[in-house]
Amino acid sequence: MQCWNCHTDFAPGTLLCPRCGKVQPPAVGATLFDAFGLAPRVDVDIPELEQAYRERSLQVHPDRYTTAQARERRFALEQSTLLNDAYRTLKDRAARAFYVLKLHGLDLSREDLGTQKDMPLDFLEEVMQLREALDGHREKGALEAALHMAGDVSVRRSTALAEAEAALRQLLAHPGQDAARTEASHALARVRYFTRFLEEVDAMEEEALEG
Ligand SMILES: [Zn+2]
Repeated sequence: MQCWNCHTDFAPGTLLCPRCGKVQPPAVGATLFDAFGLAPRVDVDIPELEQAYRERSLQVHPDRYTTAQARERRFALEQSTLLNDAYRTLKDRAARAFYVLKLHGLDLSREDLGTQKDMPLDFLEEVMQLREALDGHREKGALEAALHMAGDVSVRRSTALAEAEAALRQLLAHPGQDAARTEASHALARVRYFTRFLEEVDAMEEEALEG
């Protein structure tokens, strides 16, 4: 990488030129991990991430560049935006796992992929059972029973997330391992489903409190 201002070479992930101190733009195709100078990974030390976020955010904070030339102001804004996105995603275990899978070509946040149709049958049965039970509780206004279910679903979500992480560690160690990729995507589809289920129970609880 080379400084746009003084042409000094610097290491990837450098925010400020070591010679002239000008803010550098994010690399083309920079990942959220690149924003922290990290290789893609499943396990992130959160206190370290927080500290790096604070330090790096300060370095490129747009307020520091209000009198800089337009080009540098734009780079500062781009770096800040990337850092904020990266921090929000990487500090959250589930969001991080979805992102690692996305880096391997599978974006489960896209609804149009129809990921459900290649899901194992037992998962589809599980979804149907949960759905019927929750609808039943909702009709009867049985909030306690719904909350009890949520406790159980929350445990299932943790288990599925741990499974996804194990598969993603495999995938990162051996890229191109289709079995690990499929396993991670199935586990994360379950995580996504359970998360939505828990949000629905939350909404039920809020409604009950308001009513
Ligand atoms: Zn420079």
